[in-house]
Amino acid sequence: MQAISQQAAAGPFAPPSGWKVLNPSYDPWDPIRSLQQFGQHELTSVELTVTHLCNMRCEHCAVGDSLTMKEAPHIPMDLIFRRLDEVEHLETISMTGGEPTFSMETVNNILIPLLKYARARGIRTQLNSNVTMDYERYELIAPFLDVMHISFNYTEAQDFHQVGFARSGRNVGINTTSRMYERMINNALKLSQGGLFVSAESMINYRTYNKITDIHRLIVEMGCQRHEVHPMYPSSFAAGLPAVTRDQMFETVETLLDNRNEHIWMLFGTLPFFSCSDNEKERRLVRRLREETNVTVRNDPDGRNRINVNMFSGDVYVTDFASVPPFGNIKDDKLDHIFDKWRNHPMQQAVNCHCPAASCCGPNLLVSDMFYRGTDFTSRRAIL
Ligand code: SF4
Repeated sequence: MQAISQQAAAGPFAPPSGWKVLNPSYDPWDPIRSLQQFGQHELTSVELTVTHLCNMRCEHCAVGDSLTMKEAPHIPMDLIFRRLDEVEHLETISMTGGEPTFSMETVNNILIPLLKYARARGIRTQLNSNVTMDYERYELIAPFLDVMHISFNYTEAQDFHQVGFARSGRNVGINTTSRMYERMINNALKLSQGGLFVSAESMINYRTYNKITDIHRLIVEMGCQRHEVHPMYPSSFAAGLPAVTRDQMFETVETLLDNRNEHIWMLFGTLPFFSCSDNEKERRLVRRLREETNVTVRNDPDGRNRINVNMFSGDVYVTDFASVPPFGNIKDDKLDHIFDKWRNHPMQQAVNCHCPAASCCGPNLLVSDMFYRGTDFTSRRAIL
């Protein structure tokens, strides 16, 4: 396969001309931007859970427990649009599931209207998809979309079979899953060639940590413009999976930095390493991440500049998979008001630190729970 390192400036899925290009210096999902601009966290990003249907059952799936075979009706789109209209600083919308394209009804009645709404307002969009469905579905969506976000944790069809169907509860044959694997790769490649920004996310977990370089190579070959990498923190549906150690996470990040293709954007997130660490080795890694070309560490948007809205109940969560109960409902309240309640929540306050010199605004809730119980981040400072 021929690698494509730059997003095609032309093509049916290229962004409108004149729109600022998404790149390591412009990542509107990073909460540090609005924190710098407004002096406090503001709601600039809304994630919408558009379906609980999915054709896969990935073992690591953050929302695996909520996947269903049948779906309730969505709340009226008028209400969604009204609530989005009211968000004063809205910059990005993400759509997630399940597999958002699983049902054509969701594609036609939910995704396309949302994407057209966002384009008309100049808002950036991301769709979280496994891109294993027919290409025609993605072709309908891509002209209005900014980022196609896919998961990619494989080096061959056998990995895909094991990761994606181990918990499906039915016997899905390797021939079927191999065809899906090929379709996923071809779809990603065709979408990239059409000018769409395709970002592939890999987790650092017990299956991937010792083959991350090969995974990276395949992502480059698929023409993706970005490789996004996060450690997997076993929680919810994935709680039973073996965890990798902090040292293994560290080594995986170093290995990637040593072996990556420098032409594609590498975005790391939810790492447990910070500039305020008393561990010199970890501080050195954070510095290296900051200094390398085409590498960024995104501060976690969840609960910082983003909240999640369930499009069936209207409930609002800090993330789509959090064990934190909903803290509002769009049937009763504006999103900015609901976000305000979360901003003052003790759980948010406990990790509400900010070191401008390190462009850091603290750990996410899972990282803090797993590695920093009892640590008061608000009293720490970056050591540069
Ligand atoms: S913002 Fe918080 S986590 Fe980041 S370096 Fe400063 S004290 Fe540490």
